[in-house]
Amino acid sequence: MTRLPVVILGAGPAGLAAAEAASANGQPVLLVDENPAPGGQIWRGGPPHWSDARAGRLWKALSARPQVKLLCGTRLVACGAPGTLLLDTDHGPRTLAWERLVICSGARELLLPFPGWTLPGVTGAGGMQALVKGGMPVAGKRVLVAGSGPLLLAVADTLQRSGAQVVAIAEHRSGAELARFGGRLALRHPAKLAQALRLFARLRRVPYLRGATVRAASGDERLLSAQLEQGGQVRDIECDFLACGFGLLPTLEIAGLFGCALAHGRVSVDLAQRTSIDGVWAAGESTGIGGVDKALAEGRIAGLAAAGMAASGAERRALASAQAFARLLAHSFAPTPAMRALCTPSTIVCRCEDVRAAELAPHASWRAAKLQTRAGMGACQGRVCGAACGFLYGWEAAGARPPVFPVSAACLASVAAP
Ligand SMILES: Cc1cc2nc3c(=O)[nH]c(=O)nc-3n(C[C@H](O)[C@H](O)[C@H](O)COP(=O)(O)OP(=O)(O)OC[C@H]3O[C@@H](n4cnc5c(N)ncnc54)[C@H](O)[C@@H]3O)c2cc1C
Repeated sequence: MTRLPVVILGAGPAGLAAAEAASANGQPVLLVDENPAPGGQIWRGGPPHWSDARAGRLWKALSARPQVKLLCGTRLVACGAPGTLLLDTDHGPRTLAWERLVICSGARELLLPFPGWTLPGVTGAGGMQALVKGGMPVAGKRVLVAGSGPLLLAVADTLQRSGAQVVAIAEHRSGAELARFGGRLALRHPAKLAQALRLFARLRRVPYLRGATVRAASGDERLLSAQLEQGGQVRDIECDFLACGFGLLPTLEIAGLFGCALAHGRVSVDLAQRTSIDGVWAAGESTGIGGVDKALAEGRIAGLAAAGMAASGAERRALASAQAFARLLAHSFAPTPAMRALCTPSTIVCRCEDVRAAELAPHASWRAAKLQTRAGMGACQGRVCGAACGFLYGWEAAGARPPVFPVSAACLASVAAP
């Protein structure tokens, strides 16, 4: 099997930047992504939907290089023999051999359980945005956006532009905490502040409630209203959708498959984005949540390094600034202990296997809870409840075992007999 010189897993901003940097000197590069089009989360939908000039520039450069190939609708599910990848594609399983690998697998949402969070109509904030970008009609629908962090503004903006009526944005952090965050942005990241102010201007008719937390979602067969607490007062807000965002978590399955060292819930990398495994680099949200600027800066450095080139001083400074913003985000919007109290004993925590908090609480570890209750053993393989239990009980969930995503029997058979 011919070894591909550079394989990039994930074609979001980090993967696209890595591919552009790695292929600049004629190096053959293969980009792999499970989505039907490149762009990752923020540039979801592919080139026809992109308004960000950076995405357009990257795509123009990549499209002009015949040595760059893109495989979409293709998911990495396992490693085969050493130096090979097992991919699940629309046309069946496929094995590839690689020399150097750049992991740009992005992030997923942290979903925290509260009464009613499994009702139809309740989604993650980013999940709701992804559905809308994928064409789900929301025109005229009343949507409450709740949780914490700047993603709430981006989601509310997408919803409003798609014709939804955003009834409010309920931000868990207090006005004083948000003012401190704004002050630090003004001092160190004025472009980010300007971006936030532009979003606020577009959302000027939407009430932005500070220190406000959704305590429960109610309805019979689907969501009818959400119970909102603010300043000790509780009120019901009628809505068709509740989009709740408590933050993002690095996606670690791919790095775990290759045995890359992890620390503090993210892939550990050095200054050249090199992981602990020879020939494997990582970039973007998988090395820590920081948004598109960090993904682009890290992707570029990882791509250069994978092609044997070094980053310039300006590229290093761009990365340092993006990483400082990432630290500020983590410090300002980490989930608070008060969010644990949202989960009552009767709240479902593992929604695949219908396991409630009262059944989980007596256990000492994730493993014990899994064995005794089946939590984490359903279709999502603990991707949702594993992180929730980590937050609720401090349990460390073991990484996913290969195949890291559900696959067809044909795909499994090809692992057994490559
Ligand atoms: C749901 C959601 C919505 C978001 N919305 C916004 C927003 O509106 N504005 C904003 O600034 N930021 C948003 N973010 C943050 C966003 O992650 C970053 O801004 C940016 O997209 C990060 O780029 P990335 O390349 O690191 O990761 P991503 O953009 O997440 O790209 C990772 C890519 O890896 C692919 N991938 C992962 N695992 C596999 C696998 N096993 N096989 C093949 N492909 C794989 C994914 O399909 C994805 O395309 C959002 C994040 C999430 C999770």
